[in-house]
Amino acid sequence: NVKDTLTEQLREWDRNYFMHPTSSVRAHQEHGPSHIFTKGEGIYLTDINGKTYIDGLSSLWNVNLGHGRKDLAEAARNQLETLPFTSSFNNFSNEPAIRVSKKIAEITPGDLNVTFFTSGGSESNESAFKIIREYWKLKGQPERTNIISLQKGYHGVTLGATRATGMDNFNTFGTSFAPGFLQATPYLTECEKGDTTHPNYASSIRGMIEKEGPEKIAAVMMEPIQGAGGLNVPPKGYLQAVRALCDEFGIFLIADEIICGFGRTGKMFGVENEGIVPDFMTVAKGITSGYVPLGAVIMRESFRDELASLTDGILFHGFTYSGHPTSCAVALKTLEVLEKENIVSHVKEMEIVVKNGFASLIERHPHVTNDRCVGLLSAFDVFKEPETNTPFQPAEFAAQILSKECEDRGLIIRPVMYKGANTIVFAPPLVSTKAEIEEAFAIFSDALTAFE
Ligand code: PLP
Repeated sequence: NVKDTLTEQLREWDRNYFMHPTSSVRAHQEHGPSHIFTKGEGIYLTDINGKTYIDGLSSLWNVNLGHGRKDLAEAARNQLETLPFTSSFNNFSNEPAIRVSKKIAEITPGDLNVTFFTSGGSESNESAFKIIREYWKLKGQPERTNIISLQKGYHGVTLGATRATGMDNFNTFGTSFAPGFLQATPYLTECEKGDTTHPNYASSIRGMIEKEGPEKIAAVMMEPIQGAGGLNVPPKGYLQAVRALCDEFGIFLIADEIICGFGRTGKMFGVENEGIVPDFMTVAKGITSGYVPLGAVIMRESFRDELASLTDGILFHGFTYSGHPTSCAVALKTLEVLEKENIVSHVKEMEIVVKNGFASLIERHPHVTNDRCVGLLSAFDVFKEPETNTPFQPAEFAAQILSKECEDRGLIIRPVMYKGANTIVFAPPLVSTKAEIEEAFAIFSDALTAFE
């Protein structure tokens, strides 16, 4: 019939003409696209065959307010009809960019009051590195170039962001040359507090600062909770220890809030779970709920003031789409909705529903373990024998199989297959209701019978 013919045509064109990001080129050539989506409504996605799925990762941890919102579409449409785009170079400006920067200043902690816009997460991290390195150069400390990040951190795919990423499947891709990046072992809280006798001290952030010399370290970057690297939640006190460490040596702390920001963890920003104020926050994704691309580097007012005092020259860094009026208009509406609909406190309530869901999965399914959940950022592991940490063989396939079983039953989730991890990540839109989350857990439970 006509519909099947159209679907086949699209699949063929996809295979012939569309190279997909972070995807297997071979599998694409052999099988074509894995899904073609045609519609989104709330937390649900519908594919070209009419099958509906729960969008269990908010697409790419970004469609936080859910799909199909008229208010966000209207904000974009109004701006597109009035002034779709103007440049922000040479201090040209536009109303949505002005208003959303002011709004960001209101909702961010401390004096993180100044926003530099980009088109996404990688560009934000890249911009943070370059602006910080330029600052140190202007300060007469040109040796301060190194960025320390964490193993298993994910910071994006532009050159610097790739090097900062602590996952070697990404950071060796294309022989990504970019000097000045070091990766520390995550979560060595005692070392960061000053315990130099710890066996892993040398690979801690403090150990690396000591080895390289603090005068050569520009900044430390980390996610408040690691996302793509396996949903790794730092132990309590870790971020505070790192904040104190950075203060001790006058090193900037950059929080990559690209997943955690704008309510995902049940606080407006992930760092607020530990009550710390970083020197920079990089954001993207949830800032527009994914409806249009936008990212930003948010910096302290004092940093901007110092930069202005150090040079009367031009900041030779900016993207065509820095301060895109349409993206900013959607961001402004997104932030309004977050506030008006009390989304952040809703997330905190839904955290309980997810935690209860995990508790009953663990009770009923012997292979489920290591559940973790902060707000609507959650994950669990699948082990053959959780008591002895014995994985299924090969381990990564357990997560892949479970993810496939969930998809067959109408739930899209993210398997983490990095270095034998067997983790399933569940991070549904922040507007998910109790009933919707329970629907997802019913699917998890049913899908897990595939292992029993
Ligand atoms: N940082 C984190 C924590 C991310 O999760 C991502 C994307 O997943 C990025 C940076 C890169 O963002 P983008 O893909 O928008 O460049």
